[in-house]
Order: sequence, then C-alpha cells, then structure tokens
Amino acid sequence: MSKSELERFREMSVAEFFAKYREVAGFSNPVRALYQTVRELVENSLDATDGHGIAPEVRIYIERIDSDRGWCRVTVEDNGIGVPPTVMPEAFGKVLFSSKYVLRQTRGMYGLGVKAAVLYGQVTTGNPVEVQSTTRGSSYIYAKKLYIDMKRNEPVILEEAQFKKNVSWHGTRVSLIIECDWQRAKSRILEYIRRTAIIAPYADILIQTPDGEVLYFPRTTKKMPKPPKTAKPHPHGVDVETLKTMLKATKAKTLLEFLEVEFQSVGRQSALEFLKSIGLRPTMKPKQLLRGENGALVVAMVEAMRSFKFRAPRSDCLSPLGEELIKVGLKRMFNPEWVDAVTRPPRAYQGHPFIVEVGMAYGGSIQPSEEPLLLRYANKIPLLYEEREDVSYKVLSDVNWKQYDVEMPAPLVVLVHVVSTKVPYKGVGKESISDVPELEAEIRNGVLELARRLKRFISAKEREAEVMRKILVLSKYIPEIARSLKVLSKDPGSWKPLEPGEERDIVDALVSLVARNIELPRRGDDSGRSVEDLIRSIISEVRVS
Ligand code: ADP
Ligand code: MG
Repeated sequence: MSKSELERFREMSVAEFFAKYREVAGFSNPVRALYQTVRELVENSLDATDGHGIAPEVRIYIERIDSDRGWCRVTVEDNGIGVPPTVMPEAFGKVLFSSKYVLRQTRGMYGLGVKAAVLYGQVTTGNPVEVQSTTRGSSYIYAKKLYIDMKRNEPVILEEAQFKKNVSWHGTRVSLIIECDWQRAKSRILEYIRRTAIIAPYADILIQTPDGEVLYFPRTTKKMPKPPKTAKPHPHGVDVETLKTMLKATKAKTLLEFLEVEFQSVGRQSALEFLKSIGLRPTMKPKQLLRGENGALVVAMVEAMRSFKFRAPRSDCLSPLGEELIKVGLKRMFNPEWVDAVTRPPRAYQGHPFIVEVGMAYGGSIQPSEEPLLLRYANKIPLLYEEREDVSYKVLSDVNWKQYDVEMPAPLVVLVHVVSTKVPYKGVGKESISDVPELEAEIRNGVLELARRLKRFISAKEREAEVMRKILVLSKYIPEIARSLKVLSKDPGSWKPLEPGEERDIVDALVSLVARNIELPRRGDDSGRSVEDLIRSIISEVRVS
C-alpha cells in the first residue's frame, strides 16, 4: 500500500470539537450565537441565585463595539453565590467542567454553556472572556481574563487581579466579545427575556440594548420556589458504568448497606427482597460484584434493578414553580380574562423524576391566532427554537379545541413547564424536548385538565351573556310598565298627572320580581354581584340618557 492511501488519524479535544462544530451547541450563525450567548450567561446567573434561595437581580448589557465587523460586547452581572477563585479558570475555560453534575434540578447540566460562548468569542473575534466574581463570605473580588487552549482543553489566564471588597455585593460578572447580528437577533432575545420574566416573576431583570434602550422587568412577587435538594440516584436510573463507579467508591461493607445508603427510595426491606430475588447474599462485599467476568454480575444487577418495583423517585430534588407563580407570570404578561394553572404530581421516566406544570390563559390582551400560543419551558428555561420538534407541540396539535368550546382563531396561551433532574432534550443546544411517553402523557393530562376548566369558563360566560341580554331588555321596560300601571291603578276621579318618581314603589316591586326569577351563572371569580343591583344600575342609566 502506498503512503498516500493511508488515512491520517489524530485526536481532537472536546474544546476543539465544540469550536469547530459550534452549531451543535446552538452557535450556528451570528444571530443564533448572540441569542445563545445571552441565554447561557443568564441561565448561569439564575442558577446561581434562585437555585440557592437568592432573589435574582440580573443585569444584561449588550454594546456594539465595532459595527463594521459586527462585534458586540455581552456582559451579564448577577447577585448569585459567585465562583470561588480556585475553580474560576476551569469553570469558564475548560469544556465539560461543572458544579451541576449532580442529581438536582438546574438549568445548566452539560458543563458546556459558557465555554461554548467563550470558544465562539475566541474564534470569531480573538478576544478572551473577562470574569469578576466574589462569593458570599469573601472579602475580595477576583478578576480574571482567560481563553481556552483548544488543543488541550485547558484555561490559559492572561491577566488576574484581586480587589478588597468594600461593597456588600456577591455575585458574578461575565463579559464576552463576539461576532453578532443584533438587528436580527433582537426580537428573539427580547422575547427570551420576556418569557424568562413570566417563569421567574420573582426575578429582577434589566437589559440594555445596543440601540440604547433599557428594558426593565421588575420583580412582581417576593414568593420564590423552594430551591431543589441534591438527590442520590434511583435504582431505575443507573447504568452499568455508573453502578461500577458507585461500587468502587462506596464505603459500605455489605451489599445490603450499599443499596440502603447509596440509593434513594430503597429501604432495608426492599433491599433484602431485591437481593433475594437475584440470589445475592446481603452480607456480600460490594467490591466482589466487580470481579465477575466482563462485569457480568454488574450487568445482571442493573437489569434486575430496572425491573424490580422500588418506591418511585423522590421529587425534592425538583423545584417546580407552583400554580400561583405561573398564574402571576401569565397575568402580568397577557392581562387575560381567564387564567389557570396546574402542577401535576411527580412522576418518573427511566428512574429520573419529573414534574409537569401547565398554565393556560384566555382572552384579555392576547392576540387571537389559529394555533394557541405555546410557551415552552424546561427547568425554568424558555425554549424558543425548534417548536415543532417538541413533545408539547405534538400534544397541542392533537387537541380538538372545538370540543372545549374554543373557536379558532382564539386568544389562547398555553404554557408547558417540565422540570427534571434530567430533561430529555433533543440536543445540547437545549431547545426541544423528546417525546418520552411518560412525559407526553403527563403533558396531555395537564393540558386537557385545563382545557376542561376553560370550557366551563367559556360556557358560563355564554350563559351569562344570554342572561344579561334578558336583564337588559326587561330593565328597559320596567320604568315604562311601572308608569303605565301607576296611571291605570289611579282613581280616575282624582286624576292628575303623575309626579316624577311617584311610580317608584311599583318599580321596586317589579325589580325584585324580576331579580327573584333570574339567576346569574357562577363564574368563580365574581363575588356577590346581585341581579337586583344590575337592574337598578341599568334603569338609572336609561333614565339619564
Ligand atoms: P453548566 O451551567 O452546564 O454547569 P457552564 O459552562 O455554563 O456549565 O458553567 C460552568 C460552571 O461555572 C457552572 O456549573 C457554575 O458552577 C459556574 N458558573 C458559571 N457562571 C456562573 C455564575 N454566574 N455564578 C456562579 N457560578 C457560575
Ligand atoms: Mg450553564
């Protein structure tokens, strides 16, 4: 074989990979890249705040620094827990380095987001990332300028400094210079921020645009969702490699103890039953399992764990928003005539716990459209791209709205929020969710439950409109009829023209007669509107006009 026929092999680092195939992480062009940069930075800021019980204050500044070349500086500042100086270089300069590789609901999960943005900045403008950060207890603010050595996937620090802290601020400020297209990214970015404000009404968000505009979304509630706890793995969710790692690392002396201590949802009784079902001694040493040929024992154990009936995964590692906050967010943005929300009970797919929340808003300032406006969220992140690929879109397109008395085009908004320790995204750009059957079923349950409530509202509203028409007609005639009755009932001998208001007693009698025979349909939101008051107010208006 001649030399030229041989293929040339070499290894590529993960940093090089994401720099080269940046579209994989959502950085496909200057429009998407700007959107994705803002998103990754904002999501890190929100994780560092609401994920730790801090009411978020997030400031986003986008400045044009070279309009010929389309360069922007994107800066995001937060009041979060901050990044300790020792891990700062890797957190911002090593792809797949993260504090979120634990079983807890977070927005980030791949350890990629901010580094994908840093790499993009690096390859398009050659500029490093600038980070300033200070943790809650620290008396210094640490500042570093760094870039990523792509061949080695390691941070390279260009400049660093530390300043004595004379402010009470704790948090992080990240600044990047990237090639971007603000004009075309503008509407998506603002929509992203708006939708973030819907799902996090307890956050205080400000964005300054290259056009010099400042958009401010003040917090509308002090109520915050409970921060998620970190959970142990559920036996249904582990694979062969994970189990091997756990067996190697455990301090447990026996298999029984291993199962009880290292997993969630496994009690002594179920551990004993499980071991019996696969014929393993409870007193066996965990490391012994690793000895079988090709890990055969580990594989067998994983398979058995999947099919054994353990308790369902715990859901305290999840932080759903709650029905109240969803309604607050939807009301603020759409000022709807009707709004409702439901948080479904926790469920699991492949050992990963999840909760589905659905919100629905109707009427008011919502623009009617042929399809309901779908607001998708995962772990409190708004998802804007790839709508048609998403499981929620699939569920919505199966709904026959006519059946729920909704005539399209209708002013209808549907919000779907999925929270999980592992959201089954279709790609690392985190834009759409796969149609995992358990998830799809829960979304459908939530949507249909609210659709039924909406139907009740719409039919009550229609009935009410009908009754109102009746009341209006009757009210208009009451003064006329009262007057004629008064005239007729007068003693003809003593006849003289009626004084104004002389027929009042008959009006009163007629009003209560009508009121007694008409009932307004209950709408749930109205309290104590009486038919009698309604008629009186109509009569007085008719008189005046
Ligand atoms: P991920 O968010 O998936 O973990 P990133 O690359 O976006 O990956 O971030 C890496 C890590 O850097 C995070 O896990 C977090 O520990 C830290 N980090 C990034 N931004 C911030 C911030 N604004 N505040 C606190 N920590 C941050
Ligand atoms: Mg992140």
